[in-house]
Amino acid sequence: MELNIANISEKKGAHLFFNFSEKLSPLVIGGEEIEFDGPILVEGTATNVGKGKILVEGKINTKIMVNCSRCLKPVCINMDTEFKKEFVKKSVLNEPSYHKLYEDEEIRTYEGDKLNLLNEVLENVILNIPMKALCSPDCRGICSICGCDLNVSECHCTSESIDPRLAELQKWFKE
Ligand SMILES: [Zn+2]
Ligand SMILES: [Zn+2]
Repeated sequence: MELNIANISEKKGAHLFFNFSEKLSPLVIGGEEIEFDGPILVEGTATNVGKGKILVEGKINTKIMVNCSRCLKPVCINMDTEFKKEFVKKSVLNEPSYHKLYEDEEIRTYEGDKLNLLNEVLENVILNIPMKALCSPDCRGICSICGCDLNVSECHCTSESIDPRLAELQKWFKE
């Protein structure tokens, strides 16, 4: 996912359009693999904003496979997100004024005429993975006692697993 910025690198205000469609290998997050379902599409503009900085504004569209947080079945999630990031030329970065400016911030850099978007794109994908995905809004999940998928089969665990204190109370109400 590399931009060639040779045509805009000399002129402030110059910009270029880009679009990529790439197949990426699965992401590994916390030991878990997250697979892409199809290619990732990235498009946008890169603008020379002066002083060795290139502002990249892009849109990301992809589909990822995650597990339903209730029943653990794989779910395909459509992801549409946008990003905006300044990339600083590595040689310029060594100037003291830049050092101060970016001390606390994580900086993306590029070298020569090549600007690689991959890390920025992946970071945005990771940030947008939902913490809780559901295969359907009314997924019934997995029985916590016998482990059966409640979307597929019924079990009778709930009636037997009532809190004993509650069972006492129910008996009392019946009498
Ligand atoms: Zn589910
Ligand atoms: Zn059960």
